Amino acid sequence: MAQLLSCKGFVADFKEQLHARADACTQAGAQPTLSVVRVGDKPDSVAYQNSAVKRAESLGLATREFVLPEESTTADVQAVIERINQDATIHGCLLLRPMPKHIDDAAVCNALCLEKDSDGITLASAGAVFADSDEGFAPCTPSACLHMLDAYGIDVAGKHVVVVGRSLVVGKPLAMMLLRRNATVTLCHSRTENLAQMCQSADIVVTATGRAKAYGREFFREGQIVLDVGTNFDENGKLCGDVDFDAVEPVVSAITPVPGGIGGITTCALVDHVIAAAERGVTKTA
Ligand code: NDP
Repeated sequence: MAQLLSCKGFVADFKEQLHARADACTQAGAQPTLSVVRVGDKPDSVAYQNSAVKRAESLGLATREFVLPEESTTADVQAVIERINQDATIHGCLLLRPMPKHIDDAAVCNALCLEKDSDGITLASAGAVFADSDEGFAPCTPSACLHMLDAYGIDVAGKHVVVVGRSLVVGKPLAMMLLRRNATVTLCHSRTENLAQMCQSADIVVTATGRAKAYGREFFREGQIVLDVGTNFDENGKLCGDVDFDAVEPVVSAITPVPGGIGGITTCALVDHVIAAAERGVTKTA
C-alpha cells in the first residue's frame, strides 16, 4: 500500500506559518494584499475568486476585487492592471482566466509588473523561472508541487523525474524548478513515444495532462513516487486525477490523492507568493 501524500497531513502547519508571516508584514506596516481581477461572470472564475479571497483573508491578507463586465476591451483590462501596478498597497495579483475570447490574453498578462505577478503569468516571470532567478514568481501549481515534496521530505536531487504535460501553467515551469533542485528531468507530451515505458523509467512521475484516469497500472512500477496534478471529472461527474488511483496506488510507494493532493494547496501557494512580495517590500524599506 502506498504512502498517501495528502495535503491534510501538513496544510494546517503551512497555514499557520503563512498567517504568522502575514501578521509580521502587517506589523511592519505592509499588510500583504491580494488583488483579484475578473472579466465577466464565468461560474468557474467566480468560484475560484471566492475561494482565493476567502483563503487569503483567513490567513491575514487584505483583498481587493476588480470585476469588469464581459464586454470590456483589452485596453480596459490593461488599465486595471496598470492601476494595480501603481498601487503600492497591493502586493500581488490573481487574474482569472480564461478571459472572454475577444480579449488579448498575452497583452493583458504581460501588462502586470513582475513584482506583483503572484501566479507567474508574465513572460518576465517565465524567463525568471527559466533562469533560476528569484525575481517574479512561478505559477502557483508547480509551486504547490514543490511544497508537497518538501512537506514529505522528498529530495529530488539526482532522481529521474518524468513530467507528463508541457503547459506554461504546470509542466514547463515545474520541469525547470525540478532541474534547479538537481533532478534529471524528462518532459513528456502528447507526441511522446512509448510514454508508459518513459514513466516506468522514472523515480518520480508527475502527471499534468487533464485526462481523467488515463494513466493506469501499465505506466508505473514498484517504488515510484507519483504526483497527480490532474483535476478532472470522471464518467460519474466525480473529481479525479490523471492517474487511475485505484489501479496504481497498490503498486507505487507514494501517491497524491485527487482531491486532497496538489489542488488542496494551490491557493496556499498563491498566498505564499503574495506574502513573499510584501516581505520583499518590507526588506527594501527597512
Ligand atoms: P493543458 O491542456 O494546457 O496541457 C495539457 C498537457 O498535457 C499538454 O502539454 C499536452 O501535450 C499534454 N497531453 C495531452 N494529452 C496527452 C497524452 N495523451 N499523452 C501525454 N501528454 C498529453 O493543461 P494544464 O497544464 O492547464 O492542466 C493540466 C491538468 O492539470 C488539468 O487536469 C488541469 O485541470 C490540472 N490543473 C490543476 C491545477 C491545480 O491547482 N491542481 C492547476 C492547473 C491545472 P501537448 O503539449 O503535446 O498538447
